[in-house]
Amino acid sequence: MEETVTLQAQLANALHSAVQLQQFELYYQVQVDSQQRPVGAEALIRWEHPQLGIVSPSDFISLAEASDLILSIGQWVLETACAQLKRWQSQLHTSGLSVAVNISPRQFHQCNFVETVLQAIASCNISPSLLKLELTETVILDNTSETIEKMHQLQRAGVEFALDDFGTGYSSLSHLRSCPADYLKLDGSFIRALGEDETDDPIVRGIVQLAHSLNMAVIAEWVTTDAQIDRLRLLGCDLVQGYRIGRPVAATAFGTSATTV
Ligand code: C2E
Ligand code: MG
Ligand code: MG
Repeated sequence: MEETVTLQAQLANALHSAVQLQQFELYYQVQVDSQQRPVGAEALIRWEHPQLGIVSPSDFISLAEASDLILSIGQWVLETACAQLKRWQSQLHTSGLSVAVNISPRQFHQCNFVETVLQAIASCNISPSLLKLELTETVILDNTSETIEKMHQLQRAGVEFALDDFGTGYSSLSHLRSCPADYLKLDGSFIRALGEDETDDPIVRGIVQLAHSLNMAVIAEWVTTDAQIDRLRLLGCDLVQGYRIGRPVAATAFGTSATTV
């Protein structure tokens, strides 16, 4: 336990200088439609630490969220993702691809969040409808009316929203009803057994129908087998993402992986 505490403290220290030292990189994981056509990618941050190697966000995002560090990291992610969208927009075979950016609760609740996003879009001159912001339920649970107003402001500008990891946390139906998200991301835990047994079929079918009746499209995460892809198509899921389709890769490798899907 002592070792874990020391490691956490070391990570927190190193994280402070990581932004200035440009140790972050965005990886992109392709998302495809039911015909397996690439429609976009989720941007996932990686920290290339000189001694530790590549550190996964699960090991440092919560640390960053405990302080204002998440704000500078989040800003870097947003600007880098918009710059990538700009590059994709300028090439014929990638011009329609969207980028989904994970937004932390602390970042979203900043009073200038809407302006920050609009500024990033304007300075890269990208189409706002190609930017998707992924929020988790915790964001919506805190200060619901302010959250909805911010989402509406950005949606009026064309930006889309996805509700991430749905089905694990509270999954409150009253919050879902008032949440103006465009996409619902079905948590990977419901996908695991699909195609092997039928235990989770009713849950997935029910969530897909619920989302569709609220005018949301459904994205399934953590898709690792062809059987899951087939089952998800039958159950009406709109988009899929997971290792079976493509692992998160650096932007330079993405072009080739996305076009070979
Ligand atoms: P998330 O947003 O739910 O992202 C999906 C996670 O599942 C990613 O982990 C992805 O690499 C992983 N994944 C995708 N397909 C598969 C699969 O088929 N099998 C398995 N085992 N895993 C799969 P990653 O990149 O480690 O990110 C973990 C979490 O860290 C993300 O969960 C997100 O909550 C957070 N995160 C990542 N990048 C950012 C960022 O730029 N900003 C913020 N605020 N959070 C981020
Ligand atoms: Mg996400
Ligand atoms: Mg997720």
